[in-house]
Amino acid sequence: MSYQDNNVFAKILRGELPCFKIYEDEHSLAFMDIMPQADGHALVIPKYPAETLAELPLDYAAPLLATVQKVMAAQKSLLKVEGIVLMQLNGTAAGQTVPHLHFHLIPTHLSELKRH
Ligand code: 5GP
Repeated sequence: MSYQDNNVFAKILRGELPCFKIYEDEHSLAFMDIMPQADGHALVIPKYPAETLAELPLDYAAPLLATVQKVMAAQKSLLKVEGIVLMQLNGTAAGQTVPHLHFHLIPTHLSELKRH
């Protein structure tokens, strides 16, 4: 798979599109999802041009996960969420719509838990 740099997250990384930034470092960027599935729904992306997780060199995985952990900690303390769903889709068949690797961090509350 070859990475296409005209996707919206690549444009956000280049500063060509705005985003509600939460955190940024040398390797990663975290920002709010434009169509949140829950209050506080955040996205974490690597600055490395990978479309899916399989294309991310392992050296880049630890710094990316460190950012995921930081944002989760912020969601827990600032939003007082009880749980966080971590979602990461690989490929259009899996529902991936933006072809730049991203983790969804979706806050949840016990009261929203559906029992069947
Ligand atoms: P996917 O379905 O690829 O896993 O998720 C892509 C996510 O990116 C969706 O939740 C969608 O709302 C979000 N998204 C798409 N375009 C933009 C954008 O321009 N800005 C932001 N902040 N989020 C976006």
